[in-house]
Amino acid sequence: MAAMVDDGLMLIDGEMVAAQAGDWLHSENPATEQALGRVAMAGAADVNRAVAAAGAAQPAWAAKSVWERATALRRLAAGIRARGTPILDLEARDTGNTIGKLTADIQIAAGYLEYFAGLASEIKGETVPASAQGLHFTLREPWGVVARIVPFNHPFMFAAAHLAAPLMAGNTVVVKTPETSPLTGSILGELCREHLPAGVVNIVHGLGLPAGDTLVRHPQVRRIGFTGSVPTGLAIQRAASESGVKLVTLELGGKNPFIVFPDADLDKAVEFAVSGMNFSWAGQSCGSTSRLLLHDSVHDEVVERVGVRLEQLRLGDPTDPASEMGPVNSRRQHERVMGFFESARRDGARLVTGGRRPPGEQFRAGYWVEPTLYAGVEPSMRVAREEVFGPIVCALRWSTEAQAVALANGTDFGLTAAVWTRDLNTAMRMMRKVEAGTVWINSAGQHFVGTPFGGWKDSGLGGEECLEELLSYTQVKSVHVLP
Ligand code: NAD
Repeated sequence: MAAMVDDGLMLIDGEMVAAQAGDWLHSENPATEQALGRVAMAGAADVNRAVAAAGAAQPAWAAKSVWERATALRRLAAGIRARGTPILDLEARDTGNTIGKLTADIQIAAGYLEYFAGLASEIKGETVPASAQGLHFTLREPWGVVARIVPFNHPFMFAAAHLAAPLMAGNTVVVKTPETSPLTGSILGELCREHLPAGVVNIVHGLGLPAGDTLVRHPQVRRIGFTGSVPTGLAIQRAASESGVKLVTLELGGKNPFIVFPDADLDKAVEFAVSGMNFSWAGQSCGSTSRLLLHDSVHDEVVERVGVRLEQLRLGDPTDPASEMGPVNSRRQHERVMGFFESARRDGARLVTGGRRPPGEQFRAGYWVEPTLYAGVEPSMRVAREEVFGPIVCALRWSTEAQAVALANGTDFGLTAAVWTRDLNTAMRMMRKVEAGTVWINSAGQHFVGTPFGGWKDSGLGGEECLEELLSYTQVKSVHVLP
C-alpha cells in the first residue's frame, strides 16, 4: 500500500491554507487502521473566513453569463477526469470503497458538472398575463452563499457533484467535507483553485461541531444542501431555524424494501438483491435495498441463493481491482455494525451467513465485517427498522400484497424501493402504493440523471440530480412593468 499522503489544505478565497489555529484532522486507512494522512481542521474562524470569501466573490460570479459559468463548470469537469487516477487511489484508501466500482464516482462527479452546465438556459422565469396592459414576469436569482455538507461514503463524488447546481445558478459555495474520509477534498480544492475564480468555491475540512454547525448558522448562508444521517439532518434543521429563515434540503438515510412477488424472474432478482446492497462500499449507501420482502412461495429459495452469493463475494484490499468488498469506513461504523449483530442475535433473527469479522490474518486489523444475511426477521426487530449503513441485509416474509405494502411502508424511511414482478398490473399498483422517492421495477440501485433522487418521510426533502435541484438553488422574484 502507498505511503502517507501530504498534508491536505483547505481552499479559502483562492488559496490552499492551513487552519488558523493550526489544528489537524487525522485520517486512517480503514483496511489497515494505519495512519494515511491529515487535513487542516477548520474552527469557527476558518468557516467564517470561507463564508466571507464566498460572499465577496458571489456578485461577480452571478454577473457572468450562464454560458461563462457553464464553460467554467465544464473545465472543472475535465480537470476532474484528468486527475481521476490519483483521486481514485486516494479515495479507495481513505474510504475503504473498492476501486473497481469507485471508478464510476469520477465519471458521476464530472458528469453532473456537465449535466448542470447543459441546463444553463433552463434558469428561466415565466411571463404571466396578470393584467391587461402590464408585463408580469418572474426572474430566478441565486441565494448568495450556499453551504453543502457531505457524508463519508462517496466524499469526492458528493463534494464535486454538489457544486454543480448551486454554481450554475449563480451562487458561490462553501463545502464541508466528512471528518472520516476528507483527503480527496483537498484535491478538489486544488482543482477548483485552478479552474474557478477565487472565492467561488471554498472547501473546509472539520468536525460537525464546530465547523458544520458554524456554517449552517452563519447569517450569510440562507441555502443549505445536506447529505447525511437523519439525526444530523434534524440538528441542521434546528440550527438553521435558530439562525434565520433558511431553505434546507436533506438527502438522508433509508431502510429500503426489495419486494419479490411469486412471478418474479428469480435469477435477476437474486443478482440485484446483491448488487442493490452496494457491497463495494460495504453496504454504506443510502439507497441500499437492505430489506428483502419475500413472498412465501419464493422466500426460501431467494434466501438460500442470496446467502450463497454473499459467501462468494471477494473481500480484500480496496485498491485491488479484483476486490468486491472492502472494510466499513471507520471504527464508529464497525462498532455500529457489531451492535446490530448483537441486537439481531438478542432479537432472535436467524443468521444465514456472515455476522462476524472475517477470519484470516489479513482481516485482523481494519474495520472488516462479513457480508451478512438474516432471515426470520420480524418488522419489530431493530435490524428491520433502523438503517445499519453497513453490509447487513435482512429477509422478511409475506403472503398477501397488502402485507407486502404494510411491510414496505412500515418504517420511518422512504428513500427507495424495488418491486420484482412480471405482471404489469401488480407493478402499476405497487409503484403507487409504496412510499418512497424512487421506485425501481425489476431493478435496484441505479440512478438516472435527470430524474429526481430524494427521500420521502424521514429520508429527506427535495429532489436532486435533476432540473428541480438546479431551480432549488434559485429564488423567484416577480417583476411587474406597468405602462
Ligand atoms: P453524518 O450525518 O454523521 O455526517 C454527514 C456530514 O454532516 C459530515 O460532514 C459531518 O461532519 C456533518 N455534521 C455532523 N454533525 C453536524 C452538525 N451538527 N451540523 C452540521 N454538520 C454536521 O452522516 P455520515 O455518517 O457521514 O453518512 C451516512 C449517512 O448519510 C447515512 O444515514 C446515509 O444514508 C446518508 N446518505 C444519504 C444519501 C442520500 O442521497 N439520501 C447519500 C449518502 C449518504
